[in-house]
Amino acid sequence: MASPYEISHTWEEPDGLTELLNDIRQQRPDADVRKIRYAYFIAEDAHSGQTRATGDPYITHPLAVTNILAHLRMDDDTICAALLHDTVEDCKGITTEKIREDFGEEVAMLVEGVTKLSFKTLDENNERQKKAAETDRAAENLRKMLLAMAKDVRVMVIKLADRLHNMQTLEGHKDPAKRIRISQETLDIFAPLAARLGIWQVKWQLEDLAFKFLHPKEYKEIQDMVVKTRTDREAELNEAIHIVKDELIKRGVKVVEVQGRPKHLFSIFNKIVIHGFRFEDILDLIAMRIVVASKDDCYVALGVVNGLWVPMQEHFADYIARPKPNGYQSLHIKVIGPRGEPLEIQIRTKEMHDVAEMGVAAHYAYKEGANAVDQRFANLRQQLFDWSSDYRTSSDFLRNLSTDLFSEQVFVFTPKGEVLDLPKNSTPVDFAFRVHTNLGLRLVGAKVGGQIVPLDHQLKNGDIVEVITRSNAQPSLDWLQFTASPSAKSKLRSYFRTRRRDENVAQGKELVERELKSRKLDPKLYLGEKLTGVIGQIKDCRTSEDIFAKVGEGLVSAISVVDKMRPPTQTKGERGPNKARETGVLSVVGGLDSVSMRRAKCCDPIPGEDVVGYVTRGRGIMIHRAACTNALAYEQSDPERLIPIDWKPDGSGVFRVNLKIVTLERQGLLADVSNMIAEARANIVGMKVRPLPNTTFEWDISVEVRDIEHLNFVLNKVSNLSDVFSILRVHGRTGSR
Ligand code: MN
Repeated sequence: MASPYEISHTWEEPDGLTELLNDIRQQRPDADVRKIRYAYFIAEDAHSGQTRATGDPYITHPLAVTNILAHLRMDDDTICAALLHDTVEDCKGITTEKIREDFGEEVAMLVEGVTKLSFKTLDENNERQKKAAETDRAAENLRKMLLAMAKDVRVMVIKLADRLHNMQTLEGHKDPAKRIRISQETLDIFAPLAARLGIWQVKWQLEDLAFKFLHPKEYKEIQDMVVKTRTDREAELNEAIHIVKDELIKRGVKVVEVQGRPKHLFSIFNKIVIHGFRFEDILDLIAMRIVVASKDDCYVALGVVNGLWVPMQEHFADYIARPKPNGYQSLHIKVIGPRGEPLEIQIRTKEMHDVAEMGVAAHYAYKEGANAVDQRFANLRQQLFDWSSDYRTSSDFLRNLSTDLFSEQVFVFTPKGEVLDLPKNSTPVDFAFRVHTNLGLRLVGAKVGGQIVPLDHQLKNGDIVEVITRSNAQPSLDWLQFTASPSAKSKLRSYFRTRRRDENVAQGKELVERELKSRKLDPKLYLGEKLTGVIGQIKDCRTSEDIFAKVGEGLVSAISVVDKMRPPTQTKGERGPNKARETGVLSVVGGLDSVSMRRAKCCDPIPGEDVVGYVTRGRGIMIHRAACTNALAYEQSDPERLIPIDWKPDGSGVFRVNLKIVTLERQGLLADVSNMIAEARANIVGMKVRPLPNTTFEWDISVEVRDIEHLNFVLNKVSNLSDVFSILRVHGRTGSR
C-alpha cells in the first residue's frame, strides 16, 4: 500500500472539506492534509444516512466542530479526532481499535475522551425517576470527561468546540425543556471551563448563546438597546482610536492594530442584573484594544495613553509582569477619554492577544508541545482529577462543580512561588486541601506572609501561604463551617464518614448538646423522647445513635436536628423574622442622630454591604450602596453631601430585597420555593409569577432578610432546588410591591 490514507479515486471531495483544508494549509503549512482528508472520509462514511435534529446531514456537525478547532490552530491529531469525535458513539462498525490502527494512539485517546458513556435504558416509570437518571448520566459523563481532560487538555478543547456548535444549532432542537437544560449546563460548566482554559472567544459565544435561550426576553431587550446606541459610541471610539494611533506612530511604536472592543450581551446582562448598573452607564463606557509588536512597546504605549488622557489610577493593572494563572497577559488602564467619558484600554502584543483569545489553544499554535501545555495547566489538571474522583451524588456533584468553577477566585502563592486559584473566601484549610489531601488532614496551623493566622482566616489575592502540619493531627468538624471550596468540604466529609462510628456518635452527641445549651434548652429533656420523634425526619436514621453519627460525620447539622425537635418559631429570644419594619431599625454609625434615614430604592442596601449616606434636601439621609450608580454620580456632582456611614453590628430588623428566579415548569415547585425561603427564615412579602415562552417561569419575589449574609443564605438554599435555573437579586426594578 502506497499511503496508509488511500481514498478511492471515485470519491469527490465536498466543498466544505476543501475550504477546511485550505484554511489549515494556510495556518499550518506543515499540516498532514492527507491524514485529515482520510479522517473526513471515514467519518462521512460512518455517519452516512444519519441526520441531526436540525435535519442536516450528520457530517455537517463534525465538520463545523473541526472548523472551530482549525481556527484555533489546533494540531493534526486534534483535527482528526474532531472529525471522528462522534463516530464511536453513534455509528455502526467504528471502534476505538479501528481508529487506533488507522490514526494512531493519540487520536484514539482523544476520540475516546470525548465519547459519551453509553447507558443501558432503565425502566424509568415516572418523571422524577427519569430526571434522576438523566442527572446521573450527565454527572457520569462529566466525571469521565473531566478525567479524560486531566490526561490531555485537548480533549476539553474538542469538547468545547462540540458544545459551541451544538449551541449554535440549538434552535433546531425540538424539546424546549432540553434546550433549557443544555443551555444551563453550558452556562454552569462549559463557559467557566472555557474561561479557565483562557479560550475567550469560545467562552463569550457560549455565554451569549446560553443567555439567548435562558432569558429570551432580556436578550432581545439588550440586543435592541445595543443596536440603537451603537452609532454614537462608534463615532466617539473612532475619534479616540485616531488620536492614539497618530501618537503611537509619532513615538515610533510598531502598531499591529488599534480597535474597539465589543461588549458581549451576557456581560451587559450580568452587570445590570447582578451588579445593579444602569444600561446607559455600561454602554457609555467605550473600550479599546491596542496591539503592538513587542513587550517594550506595550509600556511605551502605556506612556502615550497616560500622556494623552487623564488616567484613573485605581483602574490600572499590569498583567504582563504578573500574568493570570491561565497565562493571560495585558496592561489594563482606564482614562478619561477625549469627550470626557471613561475609556477602557487594553494594551498587549500579538502573541499575548492570541493567548487572550485562544488560551490553551494558542500554546499549541506556538508549538509548545503537549507536555509544556499540560505543565502550564498542571493546577487545573489536578483539580480535574479531584473532581472526577468526587464520590458525591450526582446532583450534588454537578452543583458543586459549577460553584467551584463559577465562584470568584483568589490567587495565592505557595512558599515556592507556585500560584493556586481558590474560590473567594477560601481559608488556609482550603489551601492545604488543594495542595494535597494529606496536607489538609494533618493541618494544625498556617502562616500568611510569615505571620501566624487562625485557620478560618480568609485569604486575599497575592497572599503567600505556608501550612504547619503534625503527623498525628486530625481535622475538626468546625472546618466544614468556614471552608469555601466544595472540594475541601467533600474531602473533609469523606474523612469524617470513614472515621470510626463511635467517634462520630460521640462527637455528634456533643454538638447537639452544645446547640441545645446555646438555646437555653435542657439536654436531659430533649435527648430522650423529643429526639426519637425526629428519627423519621432524617434520611436513613433508625435510632438516635444514627442521628448523632450523621451529625458527627458532618452530613446533618446540629442546628437542623434541634430545629426539628423545637421549631424555631416557638423558640423565645431567638432572632427570627419579625414584624420590625424599616423605619426606626436602621442602625448605622456616622449618621446624624436627629435626621431621618432611609434606604435608597434604587439599590436597596442591606446590612453588611458597603454603604454611603447622601444628605438630601429636606428628606433626611438616603443610604445607598457604595457601588450604586447614583452614589457614584453624587461623588462627581455633589461630594459634599456624601457622608461616610456604616452599619452597626448589633442592628436588628429586616429589609426587603427583590429577587428574580427562573425555573422550569413543574408542579409543586411553588411550594418548594416558598418552603425553602421559610426554612431559611426569611419572609416572602410579594410574589409574581409569569410563564415565559420556553416552558420556563420567571418569578419576581420580594423577601425580607436581616443582612447580606442572610440574603446569601437564602440565595444559596433556593438555587440548590432542582428545576431552579437561576436566582438573582435585582435592584430597585421589577420587584412586586
Ligand atoms: Mn458532537
